[in-house]
Formats: sequence, structure tokens, C-alpha cells
Amino acid sequence: MLRYKVAIIGAGPAGYFAAQALHNLQNDERTFSIDMIERLPTPWGLVRSGVAPDHPKIKTVSKVFEKIAADPNFHLFANVEIGTDITVAQLAAAYDAVIIATGSSIGKKLGIPGEDLYGSISAADFVPWYNAHPDFAHVDFPLDCESAAVIGAGNVAMDVARILALEPSELDPTDTADHAIDALKKSAVRDVYISARRGPEHAAFTSPELRELPKLEHTNVVMARHDIDAAIQRAGEAPEKDVKSNLDAMVLIADSQKSEHERTMHFLFQHTPKEILGTDRVEGVVYSTPTGDVTIKCGLVITAIGYQAAPINGVPYENGKVVNIDGRVKENIYVVGWAKRGPSGVIGTNKSDAAAVIDLLNSDLSEPKNDSGIENLLTTQVVIDQLSWQRINEAETAAGEPKGKPRVKSVDRNELLKFAGL
Ligand code: NAP
Repeated sequence: MLRYKVAIIGAGPAGYFAAQALHNLQNDERTFSIDMIERLPTPWGLVRSGVAPDHPKIKTVSKVFEKIAADPNFHLFANVEIGTDITVAQLAAAYDAVIIATGSSIGKKLGIPGEDLYGSISAADFVPWYNAHPDFAHVDFPLDCESAAVIGAGNVAMDVARILALEPSELDPTDTADHAIDALKKSAVRDVYISARRGPEHAAFTSPELRELPKLEHTNVVMARHDIDAAIQRAGEAPEKDVKSNLDAMVLIADSQKSEHERTMHFLFQHTPKEILGTDRVEGVVYSTPTGDVTIKCGLVITAIGYQAAPINGVPYENGKVVNIDGRVKENIYVVGWAKRGPSGVIGTNKSDAAAVIDLLNSDLSEPKNDSGIENLLTTQVVIDQLSWQRINEAETAAGEPKGKPRVKSVDRNELLKFAGL
């Protein structure tokens, strides 16, 4: 029997699906002992700190993660940071293979004047703020303005715009951070402008997300019918299936009945941000459009124009990704998920992506190393293992129960350690 030890860095969807793919390759001849290393005290990556809290169904994939974690060959090492507590080089020396699954956490910048003003932030800060990520609980941005601009036409922009434009009490039965619900309840924002630099036929939204907009109970959603008609013309007679599905959904939004709601989400197409106006803080955005410049007055700008991976010491990095060929990085180091291919696809995309990389890894393996793995390398760090995480998980869900929420997430690392019994 060949027993291989594999380290997976990052406990998000890509990491769990890599673990699952390794598990599926086990047979009478080889087994894989998997050590999953996570910087935060809690696992699940974007399922915990990225997926919109008003989309609880998407989060049910965490049940799959916990099933993967129940395998006796799976070991969680959360609260362990690469670069601080342990290096990739140390892991590569101790394990038969190392898989990087650290995602893309840095928001891309527009590179236009005014982007650094107070009131201009990235979705990479806003999304983890409302999702109770411990590192983002104190992000400072204003909600005292009547209008906000969200830049980008992807699903992250859509999540951000929806969270800003919802009646905040709709978030009460969700696991949105308490600090975010409190702030959103005090928010003066009533008009949210979401802008695409190209036409509706090029928008990166997906149609299920568009189709839920006319169902919002307390928010009007405004899309100009002439924008959609022009896009239908441009898309021609046989548009791709996804484009047709999006345009059909957009027609429904454009034609939807508007009510007396005080909150409105406005879609702007062919609006390319040119400058963010303001002296001490954001006062507006100037867009160039086919008919000339347009200024939207607003006190908050959130850019949701894609992400880049954070570089990792000792790992080749270029264009916001880990340099790789089909997931192979160098020697016994591999990469999966957004750190490999860039920030694209839905959670399930990571399953086939990870399986393909694990097939390569498996074919590269020779004799197993005879090393004890991470235990020898971590001397002082307080490690949250699977059992400790289960205690946190139970404490958070128990705290949610009386409030009718799936859980109350703690944003305090010390409290998380206390829940973990450490
Ligand atoms: P995305 O889907 O790639 O969308 C990025 C958007 O930013 C595009 O509309 C792009 O426009 C625009 N953009 C890029 N550079 C720009 C610039 N300089 N100025 C103005 N606009 C610019 O990325 P995302 O929204 O971050 O989402 C990442 C992935 O996660 C996607 O695959 C998404 O579907 C997925 N996701 C899924 C869900 C869900 O399933 N509910 C939720 C959230 C995220 P151009 O097309 O013109 O470049």
C-alpha cells in the first residue's frame, strides 16, 4: 500500500473539491492523507465570506465540504498562516504534493482619478464586511449618502448592488454580519446605480441572478427597454444560449411593474467610468457613454470588476494568478481554483477543475516520502482542527437559532478560539 501525504493550502471550495478528488482516487494500492491548511480560524472560504447571505441555497454546498472532512484521512489545520507560521517550501519538503487553493482575494483597480477618495472601495472589502470576515469587520465607508454607484456587470456587482438596495430587514433571517445589518438599517442609500461598460448582451451577470430582481419586495429595478432592444438587435438571430437567457431576463426586468418603493436599483449600460469626483470624499462618478459624458452624483462607489490572487512567497506569480500549466506549478506544487485560472465560474466549476489537476498530480507521483507532515513544523501555533471547528460551527448555529438565522458568525478571532474550546 502506498500512503501519500498531500497538503492543501486554503479551505475554500477549490480546496475541498481537490480533497474530494484525491479521496475518489484511493484504491487498494494507494491512499492519500490530506492536511488542509487555512489562514482563518474557520473553513469554507467564499462559501462563508463571499456568497451573498440572501442566497442560502448556494451555501448548502458546505454540507458536501463537511462530508469530505469526515473522511478519517482528512485533517484540518485552521488558524495557520502560510508565510508566517509555515512556508510553502517547508510544506513541499515534507509532503508528497502541495496544492495551492488560496483563491483571488484582491480587488482589481479601475486606475482612474479619484479612486482613492474616502467612499471609494472595492467589493473585495465590502463583500467580506457584510459576510463577517474577521479581517474586514472595521472597513470604513460612508452610508450617509442617498446614492451609491456599483461598477461592473458581473454577479459580484449584482450581489453588492442588491445588498445596498434591499430593505435591510430582509437580511434579518440571514447570516449577514450583525454590524452590517445595523449599518444598512441606518443607511441613507436609496438609489443604487450599477454600471456596465459594454451593452446588455455582454454583461457577465447570469440569468438566475437577473430573474430574481423583479421579485424583490421593496426595491424597484430599472432597466431601459430601449437598451435591451438595441442589444437584442446587436446579438442577432442566433445569440448564444446564455446571452439569450440574459436578454430574456432583462426584458422582464425592463417591463416589470414599478411600485411606490423608496429604494431603486438602476442599470446603466455602455457607461465606462472615467473619473471619481470629490475633494475629501466621493461626490460622484463621471462616465463616458456613446452620447457623451454623464455624471452620477453619489457618496459611495464600490468597484466589482474582478479579483487577483494574492502572491505567495516562493510561488511563481503573474497577471494575478499562480503561474501554472494545467495546474502544475513546479516540482511537487500544484494549484487549483481561482488562484489557477482566475476569478471565473461558479462554485461547482471548481469540482471538475480540481479533478483534472488531481489526475495530473496522481500521474506524477512516485515513491511516497516518509515524513510526518505538518505536526513537526507547527510548534507554537494554536491550531483549529476539525473537532474544534465543529465546536465553532455548533456555537454559531446555536446562536442563530433563537433569532431565526442559520447562524450568527463571530468576527472576533479570540471568541472563535473560545468557541473552539482553545
Ligand atoms: P466577472 O463575472 O468577471 O465580472 C466582472 C465585470 O467587471 C464585467 O462586467 C467586466 O466588464 C467588468 N469590468 C472589468 N474591468 C472593468 C473596468 N476597468 N471598468 C468597468 N468594468 C470593468 O467577475 P465577478 O463579478 O467578480 O465574479 C467572479 C466570478 O464569480 C464569476 O464567474 C461570477 O459568475 C461568480 N459569482 C457567481 C455568483 C452566483 O452564482 N450567484 C455570485 C458571485 C460571483 P467587461 O465584460 O466589459 O470586461
